[in-house]
Amino acid sequence: MDYKKIGNKYVLRMDKGEEVVKTLKDFCKKEDIKLGWLKGLGAVNKATIGLFETNKKEYHTLDLEGDFEITSLLGNISRMNDEVYLHLHINLADEKYNTQGGHLSKALISATGEFIIEEINGEVGREFNEEVGLNLYKFE
Ligand code: FE
Repeated sequence: MDYKKIGNKYVLRMDKGEEVVKTLKDFCKKEDIKLGWLKGLGAVNKATIGLFETNKKEYHTLDLEGDFEITSLLGNISRMNDEVYLHLHINLADEKYNTQGGHLSKALISATGEFIIEEINGEVGREFNEEVGLNLYKFE
């Protein structure tokens, strides 16, 4: 991974074999980014995506393996208990050009990953919401 800061934005390259979520988390920790959002594309050969079942308040996950293009990766950066908190969603296109998408838990870069991360000057936390079963934005 390598990156360059331009104003309040970072241009970041991820390399073959790097895991997307961990690499982004380590980067946010290193640069002390408390609030922001990001977008990315690239190629992966392994990924775990999820869907939150609202009735049961639980995630279902799907493991994918093969050649995929990241046709869209969107996410936000916040804090929970002073730790970096990432919320990422991804769409992946397979060799038949079909896409599958969901909440991103894990993805392995197979060629390259290209990201733009925008830092927002401020801080927003998160708090677990019993009714929904998720960690929601908390403003105070
Ligand atoms: Fe999600």
